[in-house]
Amino acid sequence: MLKIYNTLSKKKEIFTPLNPGKVSLYTCGPTVYDYIHIGNLRSYITADLLNRRLTSLGFEVKSIKNITDVGHLTDDDLLQGDSGEDKMLKKAKEEHKDPYEIARFFEKAAKEDEKKINIKKSTFTPRATEHIQSMIKMIEELIKKDFAYEINGNVFFEIEKFDSYGALSGNSLENLNIGARLSDPHPDKKNQWDFALWLKAPKNHIMKWESPWSVGYPGWHIECSAMSTEYLGDTIDIHTGGEDNIFPHHEAEIAQSTCASGKKFVNYWVHTRFLLVDGKKMSKSKGNFYTLSDITQKGYLPSDLRMLYIMSHYRSQMNFTFTSLNQAKKNRETIQKTINRLKTKNKFKPKNLCINKFKDDFEDAMNDDLNTPKALSSILNLATEINKTLDTSSISNSKEILAFLNNSVQNVLGIKIDINDNQTIPAEINEILTQRAVARTNKDFKLSDELRDKLKNLGYSVEDTPTGQKLTQI
Ligand code: AMP
Ligand code: ZN
Repeated sequence: MLKIYNTLSKKKEIFTPLNPGKVSLYTCGPTVYDYIHIGNLRSYITADLLNRRLTSLGFEVKSIKNITDVGHLTDDDLLQGDSGEDKMLKKAKEEHKDPYEIARFFEKAAKEDEKKINIKKSTFTPRATEHIQSMIKMIEELIKKDFAYEINGNVFFEIEKFDSYGALSGNSLENLNIGARLSDPHPDKKNQWDFALWLKAPKNHIMKWESPWSVGYPGWHIECSAMSTEYLGDTIDIHTGGEDNIFPHHEAEIAQSTCASGKKFVNYWVHTRFLLVDGKKMSKSKGNFYTLSDITQKGYLPSDLRMLYIMSHYRSQMNFTFTSLNQAKKNRETIQKTINRLKTKNKFKPKNLCINKFKDDFEDAMNDDLNTPKALSSILNLATEINKTLDTSSISNSKEILAFLNNSVQNVLGIKIDINDNQTIPAEINEILTQRAVARTNKDFKLSDELRDKLKNLGYSVEDTPTGQKLTQI
């Protein structure tokens, strides 16, 4: 039984979907004005691990990750969505490019990085700019129901009208008023904490649309509410994001969606704690961020970074250092070497290695709010046991073990390893592969081809890939 920590109830809860066997999952996606960094990837990996876990438990997952290509202002994180510059436009001005060109370029780059680190494709990745009409419709509904008001072509959500405002973050209107004052609140707002749903565009603003109120652009928060409703319905099972999304973004999403539909918006809120670099906060705007390419250029595999994420629980703060990345690489190599050894026949007497305890430990850990460090320990403990056994015996149930490792490491944790279809490679074949690798290093292509033919006669075809020889049974 899967338990998930819900930020709203501040408790671990047993996961029960709205519709048996099906799960709707919404993830706040990237603001595409720059490359995504390893902090963003940490939050996306949590969503991916959740998706993979749910899939492995037999659920059919419909997942959405939006592309924010408009309306996210530079000060949104602190304020109420009406101050600062549009992040897309700022970058477009700096680069002397069209904002759409910037957005499509970084969207493509983000998707490529996600593929490299083995994040499953979302069912849909809707762009904010292609859903302006859904946002307008939701804003109209909020005005009709008297939760929002328009002044001078700007529309704001009136948070005083929504009693539950603050339930997710603790930032109720009362607490906000005690704690802080906005330095420069928008002059059209009734209350400084009301947040923007639609803003009238200044004359030279590039990304703008017709609306019943002004030629303008939507606030950042409304895009997720509108797209979540359009693709997944009024109430969804799970919504994920990084911890910085809790306030104001997700608090605002709850207010908008609940007031527009009159129904509960999200059943489980899942938030990933921040990744720090050498103990410091990293953000695109501060420029102190590493991308996946920065990591792979230093000779690490995307799987090494994925392993590093898995080594800490998503609800604990993670500090990125190259020392910890080296440890992650070692863990990945240990698993890979163990698998290779398990696939190689040895001369010792066979023995059965019971893996039930390791399997149970893995399943229990993953079901306990995705406790990946504990799940990984069970895999590493199994690897130790396999290696110890292989020193003096061969393992009669190696196929069963390989199938478990394939499922747990590759499918559930998403770490790419070479399992080779769970086939045990005979020692003789391995020997020929090694000889062929040496021949190729020596540029002895005649010998390399002869060895390929030899393998063919023994029932194997071999392909030369950038990561080495790939063996397939014919
Ligand atoms: P953004 O493109 O800034 O809107 O961020 C996209 C997603 O990445 C959001 O869910 C953020 O909460 C998350 N995120 C941003 N920075 C970090 C970080 N340093 N650690 C973990 N998640 C982050
Ligand atoms: Zn969002």
